[in-house]
Order: sequence, then structure tokens, then C-alpha cells
Amino acid sequence: MSDTAPQNSEGERETPQSLRRELERYRLVVRDLQARIKGLEDDLATATTMAEVPSVVVTQPELRNTLARLVNKVAMIVQTEKVMIMLHQPETDCLTVLPPALGVTEEQANQLTVPADEGISGWVFKHGEPVVNNEALNHPLIIKEHAALLRVHNSICVPLAIKQRDEEERLVDERTIGVMHVFNKRHEQDFSDDDVRLLQMLAEQAAAVISNAQVYMQLSEEKEQLQDAFESIHVGVIVVDRNGVVGLVNPAACEMMGIPYQAYDGQPMDEVVPEGEVRRLLSEALSHPEERTTEITLGAEEPHIYQAQTTTMTAQDGEIDNLVAIFYDITEIRRVERMKTHFVSTVSHELRTPLTSIKGFVATLLEDQEGMYDKETQHEFLLIIDEECDRLTRLISDLLNVSRIESGRGLELNLSDVDLQDLVEHVAHSQQGYTRNHELIVEVPEGLGTIRADTDKLVQILDNLISNAVKYSPEGGTVSVIATDEGDSIRIDVTDEGMGIPERHRDRIFERFHQVDDDVDHKGVSGTGIGLYLVQHLAQAHGGRAWLAHSEVGRGSTFSLRLPKDPEAAIASHSEGG
Ligand code: ADP
Repeated sequence: MSDTAPQNSEGERETPQSLRRELERYRLVVRDLQARIKGLEDDLATATTMAEVPSVVVTQPELRNTLARLVNKVAMIVQTEKVMIMLHQPETDCLTVLPPALGVTEEQANQLTVPADEGISGWVFKHGEPVVNNEALNHPLIIKEHAALLRVHNSICVPLAIKQRDEEERLVDERTIGVMHVFNKRHEQDFSDDDVRLLQMLAEQAAAVISNAQVYMQLSEEKEQLQDAFESIHVGVIVVDRNGVVGLVNPAACEMMGIPYQAYDGQPMDEVVPEGEVRRLLSEALSHPEERTTEITLGAEEPHIYQAQTTTMTAQDGEIDNLVAIFYDITEIRRVERMKTHFVSTVSHELRTPLTSIKGFVATLLEDQEGMYDKETQHEFLLIIDEECDRLTRLISDLLNVSRIESGRGLELNLSDVDLQDLVEHVAHSQQGYTRNHELIVEVPEGLGTIRADTDKLVQILDNLISNAVKYSPEGGTVSVIATDEGDSIRIDVTDEGMGIPERHRDRIFERFHQVDDDVDHKGVSGTGIGLYLVQHLAQAHGGRAWLAHSEVGRGSTFSLRLPKDPEAAIASHSEGG
């Protein structure tokens, strides 16, 4: 070959001139190549400046603006008509268009959702590799309707991959969150491998921006939720650092200390926390940093009891980092506990009293071998025993009902037609049997007829109201039980001439265990504090209610009761209405 002179393309012997021409041609090719490389480098540089796109996007509008800039740059760099990002939605396992897209209307975007394994988008998403389509609708993976909708001539689709790299820029993790499409290369050209490489670079940046934004938005949403929760919790929270500088005081803590709610962070604890129990507690916890729980009482006029828990968080150097003090308002819990303790002791007392009396009379009768007591006296004793047994039965049935209500089982009604006149007279008569210094008057309108009610429960309601009227008028007097026909309902007023109820207790006497225990007159009367609570629940079970209609200390009270004549109809219409 070496002795064969080189020939040009026309087969002529090489002359220095033709060689020069050939060289000139190569020089042009090289220049062109250099220009293209330069162009590519410029493109790459532009693409790299995409890093100037803020990588921390924290709000939805910010993300939208950033993406709008990004898709425009993509269109410019890759020279294409349309640019569209699709994100994977894990809930539906679909790919949906993430606005803003370039050259794609919102209406079109809405029609482009695809299952995560369909079409070119699905393939790219699943395989994590780009697809170039220069065959228009002929591409085997293309979804024809979508391509027609966007008038696609050619396209590239690349994965949106989040790449995690270590310090030496080595890839340590990769996760695909969606895909990026460009459609229709300008000037009717085909897409090239360079375009694919460029687009992949841009897609990596887009993925980073999107995923950062998602993380930030999620974090800020969580932070907002936490802040809301923190502000709305009823538990008081105070955080101070080891130097006694306030980090946080939530609204409940401000209310507890009687200071306005505002941001106190950065201020010295002694300037924020008023002198007293709370400040003492915080100072002590700072100097003796072990976890502790104590009880403190705050507020002079209306004292509140708080259970205070202090915990210190230690830094790596073992020093206290922050002290967190949590305050639970346990006033109500303590009140109920007190009432319960009181209740237990009054109930045992209430049970023991009739039992002692029964035991005493039975023992007396048993011991009377010689017949010291005549028949009349013996009958009297038996009557007392009978009354005391009734008292016990009433009390036990009250207790059982309370426990039913408390356990949420509710009070089942056993409805039947009840002749109100008969029933009221019967209850009043038996109550009259227990007292000599009261006169019980019953007024029921003529022809009231029957109402639907649970007889035993109605007896219990009236028993409680009438026995209270008697009990709380120890001086005696008239106790009237007056029924009124109100059409669909009946009203019963029980009025006594007794001690009345001090104003401060009127709202609470229907509460469980509530007794007027700070009044001399009331204190002397035995009771358990569940009578009116039960009356109210029993009335409500019938679709009715009970209330204190009138009361005057030293003059007496009127308790009223309204019951529908047909509880089932009343309850049904009530639940329809509400
Ligand atoms: P108790 O078993 O203590 O009587 P109740 O629930 O029946 O419990 O009543 C609650 C409180 O309401 C009573 O402790 C009493 O102080 C007050 N009270 C109830 N009925 C009357 C009344 N007719 N007159 C005055 N005070 C009453």
C-alpha cells in the first residue's frame, strides 16, 4: 500500500492541491465540531446555572414560579415547543401533570393522567431510562389519544430521579418521582442524543427542586399543625433554658399565670413568670434537674389545682439544655374525687341508718318472749321496719341506675299506659306515710287519662322529688304536687315550703353527687347527692326534662318536670329535628 499514491474521491492521483482541498474540508469539519462542542458547553453552562434556581422552595406559589422558569429554560435549551412534568401519585399509582407545563393547557393536562406503567411516561417511570421518540405516532409505547391531543411529532421523556450522592459525588441512592417530557423539536428537527443528555441533567435539577419543595412544604405544614396544637392544648407548657431564659410559654400557661399571651422567648424567666409557686418550681427544677411531679394551687379568688411535671433535657455535654414544665389543671378531677369520697361515706351512712333501725326493731321483737309489747306496738314496729326496707330498696335502686348511666348503658324504658292520677296519688300517699308534720296535696286535672311511661321510673322520679320536698322542709308545711295538661306533654310541679336553695347552687344541683354542703340548714339533712341527677336522667330517657322552677331561701322551692305523653314519638321527632 505504501507505494500506492493516494487517490482522491474521483480516483485522480493526489496532487498537493487536492490534498490541500481535502485538508481544508477536514479543517471546516473540525471547526464545525468545535463550534458544536462550544455550543454544547454553553448549553451545559446554562443548564448548570439552573442551580441558581433556589433549591429551597417553601411555598406552593414559589414552587410554581420556579417550575415556570425551569420549563421555559428547558424549552430554550432543548429547543422544543412543549415541556411537561408528570409526578407519580403513590395513592393512585398514576402519573399526573404538575403545573405549570409549557405549551399544554390545563384542560389538556387534566386528560393526560396515566397509570404508572402505561405509555411512554409509564415505561420511563418504571425503568428509569429515557425514551426518544422521533417516529411520532408510530412509537410502540405511545398512547395515541394523548399524542394526538398534544399534536406530538417527536418527543423525549426522561425520568425525574432524585439522586443522593456522597461527599465524593458517588451516587448512593436514586428514587424516581416522575418524568419530564419535551415535545416537538423546533425547526422540524429530530431529537438527538445531546438533547437527551441535556434533558437528563435538567430533569435531575427539577427533581431536586420538587422534592425539596415537597419536603419543606410538608415540614412547614406539620410545623403549623404542631404550633396550632401547642397553642390550643389546655395543658400549660413552659420551656426555659439552663440560664433561665424563656424558650416557650403557651397560651394555657399564660392563662394559668395570669399574664397576656405573647411571644416571650429570649426573655429572662424572672421577668416573664410572676413571683410565686411557678417561678419557685422552675428555679428548683433548674438547680436540681431530676424529673418531678408536684401539685400547686394558683389563683386567690378561684383557686385552681395544677399537677406540675418538670423534665430536663440534657445536652451532649451532660449540662441541662432545656427545662420543660407541664401543668395539668386537675381542679375538676380533685373536685370529683372529693365528691366521690364524700359520696361513699354518705352512701354507707345512708345504708347503715335504716339497717341499724331494722336490726334494732327486729331484735326488740325477737327478745320480747314475754309479750311485753301489745299487738298495736308490734304492728308499729313492723311498719317502721317496712318503711326502712322501702328506703333501702329506693337507695339501692338509685345506686343501680346511677351505675347504669355511668357505664353508658343508658336507661331502658319499659313503656306502658300509666294513669297519671293513680300514680301520683299512690306515690304521694306512700310518702305521706313517712311524715306527720307535712301535708301532701295532689292536683291532677280531671280526665287527663293515661300517658305512655315506664311506671317504675316515673315512680322513682316522683319519689325523689317529693321525698326531697319533705326532707328539705324539716319544719313541715304543705307539699303540693300539681299536674297540668299541656297537650302533647304533661307538667308536674312539686312545691314545698322548706329551706330553699342558695342561688350559687341552683345551676349545679342536678349534677351527680352535688349537695348543698356549705349551708347550715342543708348540712343537717342526710342524702347522697344522686337524687336529682337521676331525676334528670330518668326524665330525659322519657324525652322530657326536670328543672328548678323557683326557689327562695327560707321560703321553699318548686321543682318542675315535663314529660311527653308519648315518649317514643317525642324522641323520634327530636332526633329527626337534631
Ligand atoms: P340528696 O340525696 O342530697 O338529697 P339530691 O340530688 O336529691 O341529693 O339533691 C341535691 C341537693 O339539692 C341536695 O343536697 C339539697 O341540698 C338540694 N335540694 C334538693 N331538693 C331540694 C328541695 N326541695 N329544697 C331544698 N334543697 C333541695
